[in-house]
Amino acid sequence: MKPDPIAPLSLCTNCDGLVRNVGGPAHGALQLGGATKLPGGLSAGVVFRYRCSRCGSAWLRAADSQSGLARWMADSGALRA
Ligand SMILES: [Zn+2]
Repeated sequence: MKPDPIAPLSLCTNCDGLVRNVGGPAHGALQLGGATKLPGGLSAGVVFRYRCSRCGSAWLRAADSQSGLARWMADSGALRA
């Protein structure tokens, strides 16, 4: 049995805030793991990978190169290098 990284109940209070406000800033327990360019598409931007030092949740912060808007997404592992 392995834990589901995107299970809502596993999130700490800080990460729960990311779910509620996907356009919000990073919280203090997030540690930057690296950056990856999004594959394909004219609007492809850069994805920053974060991991929470409190609950261990993995996050992706995708910044759109055109709009400049960034969103938080749970890291499914699909974009891991
Ligand atoms: Zn957390």
